[in-house]
Amino acid sequence: MKEAIKVGLIGLGTVGCGVYKVLTEQSELIRKRLGIPLIVSRIADIDVDRIRPVRVPREIITTDAARIIDDPEIDIVIELMGGFEPAKTFILDAIDRGKQVVTANKALLATYGDVIFKTAEAGCVDIGFEASVGGTIPVIKTIKECLVANNIRSLYGIMNGTCNYILSRMTDGGEDFQTVLKDAQSLGFAESDPTYDIEAIDTAHKLAICLSLAYGTRVKLDDIYRQGISFISQSDIEFARELGYTIKLLAIAIDRGGAVEARIHPTMIPFDHLLSSVGSNFNAFHFVGDSAGSVFLYGQGAGMMPTASAVVSDIVDIGRDLASGIAKRVPLRSYQEREIRDISLLPIDDIVTNYYFRFSAVDRPGVLSKISGVLGLNNISIASVIQKGRRLEGAVPVVMTTHKAREKDVRQALQEIDRLDIVLDKTIIIRIEDEELI
Ligand code: NAP
Repeated sequence: MKEAIKVGLIGLGTVGCGVYKVLTEQSELIRKRLGIPLIVSRIADIDVDRIRPVRVPREIITTDAARIIDDPEIDIVIELMGGFEPAKTFILDAIDRGKQVVTANKALLATYGDVIFKTAEAGCVDIGFEASVGGTIPVIKTIKECLVANNIRSLYGIMNGTCNYILSRMTDGGEDFQTVLKDAQSLGFAESDPTYDIEAIDTAHKLAICLSLAYGTRVKLDDIYRQGISFISQSDIEFARELGYTIKLLAIAIDRGGAVEARIHPTMIPFDHLLSSVGSNFNAFHFVGDSAGSVFLYGQGAGMMPTASAVVSDIVDIGRDLASGIAKRVPLRSYQEREIRDISLLPIDDIVTNYYFRFSAVDRPGVLSKISGVLGLNNISIASVIQKGRRLEGAVPVVMTTHKAREKDVRQALQEIDRLDIVLDKTIIIRIEDEELI
């Protein structure tokens, strides 16, 4: 029987400090739940002198991560430095030394998960990565364990706090995208270079991880359709409201039987859906399982303490297994490794959904019939029209929503419409999730 679990932490930044804080301030609570003490043996960071929100004894901090990876006394290596290299090498080296690993590194897992999980499998090593998706929200455990009896019919997620903060402020305060982005940056809700968040790259990493667990598959990031939020204007927010919708950046996975639909884009969702009320920088995940039905998870998707909470839950989970002499109780990728296979993601051209179009048209009779004529010829049937004569930069906005239409037809129709001399600017399209969103 082990007398203590010893951990080494690489990366004493935002999340690393949170983890150290929980492990030291809640050490007694954790001992009661784990059964034996959990000891932070060593911490590695490039900068040992920086002033941090936690006080770490000088003798356990080092600039050399190898002193953790090569230490035979350390049971679990916690990688919280982020990025691809040297994080990937550190994790593979730790696995090679037979250490269990905990990481929050979604970019790394979404990109190099296959090699990392295969190596861990071969080495009979566990990897905890709860914090990589949804921060404090137990998304990974929900897919891997709580919903193990279910075929996951669909997942709709608000997976990026920065985008949700921006869209919520635009919706509630009537401000434009650039103003809110600047504010979000000064409040620490957005990075100085916000590309990763607002272009939905971060969301794609999280959706890729969810897809691989939900469907037992390898996912190529480039196969996930991704559209960011920077084109959303205040007028789209207002039209959405008029139509009974809220705009959210949704990550969507739908099992189409044989293929999975995986896409990320700003989406109009009905006011009365729970996802519509997820405000500020919160995240939410709405699963539909064939046995469970709807399951809704909500919470903080990032931040020092919420993320630390998830990291520590992995450490304690693995610590409990080590204390009981069990290894890898739950398959790393939810499915047994030999069952992992490539499945096809449905090309974006083949999706069928409802659409919102905002045309920038000249203020002249006959505009509506010309536009609706092209839509009709491309098998797109109109559900509603708003035309108010309200001018937007010289053009009159004409808003249409459609019944279910195929993306390929929509693209073809808009190409034709945007070439018409009555259309002054590129048409804005926003997909609508309505009937399928339970
Ligand atoms: P962070 O604040 O930048 O912390 C990373 C720390 O690692 C920094 O102190 C950095 O030092 C250090 N570091 C970099 N290279 C190192 C090396 N070779 N050896 C030792 N230390 C090294 O990042 P974070 O926000 O805590 O994020 C950590 C991980 O958690 C990332 O994978 C991120 O995606 C994930 N995550 C973060 C959040 C969140 O809310 N922040 C939420 C979910 C997941 P320098 O600063 O001197 O470079």
